[in-house]
Amino acid sequence: MDEPVPPVACPAVPPRVAPPLPCPPVPPLPVAPPLAPLVPPCPLALPEPPRAPLPRSIEGAPSDAPLQAGAKVTSGTPASSQESVERGVSIRLRSVTLEGVPPVTKIGRPTDPAAPPFPVLSTRPMSELSSFSRPALTELGQKLEARYAAFKARGLSLDMTRGKPSAEQLDLANDLWQMPQGAFLAKDGTDGRNYGGLDGLPEMKEIFAALFQAPAAQVIIGGNSSLQIMHDTVVRAVTHGVPGGSEPWGKLPKARFLCPSPGYDRHFAICEHFGIEMLTVELGDEGPNMDHVEALVAADPTIKGMWCVPKYVNPTGTTYSARVVDRLAAMKTAAPDFRLFWDNAYAIHDLYPETDALENILTACKAAGNENRPLLFASTSKVSFAGSGISAMASSPTNIADVKKHLGFQTIGPDKLNQLRHVAFFKDYAGMVRHMARHAEILRPKFEAVTEIFQSELGGKGIASWTKPRGGYFVSLDTLDGCAKEVVSLANQAGVKLTAAGATFPYGKDPRDRNIRVAPSLPPLDQIRVAMEIVCVCVGLASVRKLLA
Ligand code: PMP
Repeated sequence: MDEPVPPVACPAVPPRVAPPLPCPPVPPLPVAPPLAPLVPPCPLALPEPPRAPLPRSIEGAPSDAPLQAGAKVTSGTPASSQESVERGVSIRLRSVTLEGVPPVTKIGRPTDPAAPPFPVLSTRPMSELSSFSRPALTELGQKLEARYAAFKARGLSLDMTRGKPSAEQLDLANDLWQMPQGAFLAKDGTDGRNYGGLDGLPEMKEIFAALFQAPAAQVIIGGNSSLQIMHDTVVRAVTHGVPGGSEPWGKLPKARFLCPSPGYDRHFAICEHFGIEMLTVELGDEGPNMDHVEALVAADPTIKGMWCVPKYVNPTGTTYSARVVDRLAAMKTAAPDFRLFWDNAYAIHDLYPETDALENILTACKAAGNENRPLLFASTSKVSFAGSGISAMASSPTNIADVKKHLGFQTIGPDKLNQLRHVAFFKDYAGMVRHMARHAEILRPKFEAVTEIFQSELGGKGIASWTKPRGGYFVSLDTLDGCAKEVVSLANQAGVKLTAAGATFPYGKDPRDRNIRVAPSLPPLDQIRVAMEIVCVCVGLASVRKLLA
């Protein structure tokens, strides 16, 4: 639990105590026998065709229409919302090559219509619930109530909250325990057992330099958590400022951050903790709404930073397009010390061999004359061990020199043995990427189970849309406006824990109350299937209630 912040930060905006984060670590689920889905499935199917349309439209009900064949997604692999992943979408590709690193596949998804990337489970004609008559909706509601009651009676306890690796994934790195005998010297002679090596060992820097596509001299290795480095980076900016700024952010009457949303709740919690005001900007299929972002940062000198998860966004799976990256790099900001907090937490967390390509923000910013703008973060939390991995940051030479100036006050010797263990285990960046392909084998069926069940139970109903991520740790589900809280509450009562509705928005407030983050990594597949069936029943129930209200 976070402690109250001492009153050094942002005097005019009194620091607040961060609210309890919505989902504390939970103990592993009790081992249970495999759970059989209830029959019959697809409760949303009506026995008869819809009759008179309701006299209202469903606000925010997304269309299930696929993109037109040949429609162009201009770069990267987009958010993969359910609407945008249908076959026939052509993707412009960018390739990323690294000196000394065997090329990691950076190609796009197949455009061959005969080879859809995902199986389509349901081909039945579907009817939008908004066109159902009241009696038809009432009948459907009764069926859903009955099915919901049956699930409730099973007394389940399933957890789909935080994106933690499963034990099976963690097992992949168990050889990290096997530190080679006597291998405690780094290649520059640093003794891993002793103090020193403040900014990281050279061999560890090389691995992260490849991941960040940055010179090794511009990389600092941290402790076990990238969130901690991000937190500390914000703290330093609040107390001491950043290069190019005239004052520490905490001395200003107000400091603001842009928060593309839905986004990562713990980023938002850091801002809230230090009294930094958050402004929500919409996250679309290519990244944040850049027209909005550019207008805001150009006009408001109190906007000092922006949270970005540029690849496989938590929770939507969006990868920022080259166009968005270029605009972020080049945009005019009223604050001379504006920073992009570029949290590339899912840089190599691809679910498929064809990965999303991400433009290099360091070179884009440098080319635009804004070299000090980006601060890059990453870690091996979901590569080796969550909580016992290695974190790192990269930035311009000026920013890195500034961080190093502060580091010596914080520690006289980080854990270098863990760095050596990681280097011995992965060997190099290519080894780390190969390792992630093994994670993908475990994760892919779980993600596909979620989206298949959403498609078969909710597809074509006009009551929900969801992402089909190609990497990362989450699936993002949007309900009808005003239904997310109810869905989460219904699911909880039926034994399925979901991340609190609203958690993916600043201050925990989803203005449309529609976004739900689903984390399929931890539970076993059979539990995921049952949990998702229950979630679909809850979405149906909440939607019918809303339409009948
Ligand atoms: N950034 C993002 C976007 C995340 O989703 C997570 C984990 N959920 C983290 C950072 C945490 O990283 P670490 O374990 O390195 O602190």
